[in-house]
Amino acid sequence: MEQNTKRVNILGVTVDSVTMAEAVAQVESYIEEKNAPSLVATANAEMIMNAGRDAELMRILNSAQLVVPDGAGTVWAARHLGYEMKERVAGFDMAQELLKDAPQKNYRVYFFGSAPGIAEKAKEKAEKLYPGINVVGVHDGYFDAEEEKKIIADIKEKKPHILFAALGVPKQEKWLFRHKEELGVPVSIGVGGTLDVMAGAVKRAPLWMQKAQLEWLFRGLMQPKRAGRLMALPKFVLKVHLSKK
Ligand code: UDP
Repeated sequence: MEQNTKRVNILGVTVDSVTMAEAVAQVESYIEEKNAPSLVATANAEMIMNAGRDAELMRILNSAQLVVPDGAGTVWAARHLGYEMKERVAGFDMAQELLKDAPQKNYRVYFFGSAPGIAEKAKEKAEKLYPGINVVGVHDGYFDAEEEKKIIADIKEKKPHILFAALGVPKQEKWLFRHKEELGVPVSIGVGGTLDVMAGAVKRAPLWMQKAQLEWLFRGLMQPKRAGRLMALPKFVLKVHLSKK
């Protein structure tokens, strides 16, 4: 499948204007077509703001095969700048769609990241939700150089089609970019807190809040360590507005 989605420039980060169905089809095409290892990122307002201060992250995002519009802020920004942005594609939801398809497509998946024990719990949850799923490996996201070698060897041996990496932003994007050729995994996706939510360690916002585009507020309030990060959204809104020509 040709990459035929429109890319929208938000504060220097190019984001794909895709629906959930298009994003999932795109990811699956990377596997089917046996392309070179592809990187998929989920860009919310905070990630776009980070990229403004972190040239390496900016380069990685702009070289990624697919950057989906995660978060109400990203969708708002695209539309405010006059671009078409079809819908929000939350990283968590995209991961679930891919996991749902995996059994019938015979995709092997690997869960890498989060605190010890979380990836195992996320695997158990996936096995309940998506019967027949083949989670070929799990590893937590806290490692030293020695352990890192073992993680890389394990991923290479298990040969997943999709590697879900939950190391936080920008660690997951940088790690995946640095190791993608060596790993040879068809698709790697940075998924932030997805394994925590699957494991039940972190709650997702109730549906009404997601629909009211208030998920960012919920996350800020539920995780006090993130409260400071709440300011990222108003700053982002202002910066996008000022960038408008
Ligand atoms: N995490 C990790 N290794 C690290 C730092 C973070 O595995 O060195 C995990 C953390 O346990 C959490 C996930 O990365 O499960 C996302 O972290 P956070 O919510 O801070 O990041 P975000 O993606 O929202 O920036």
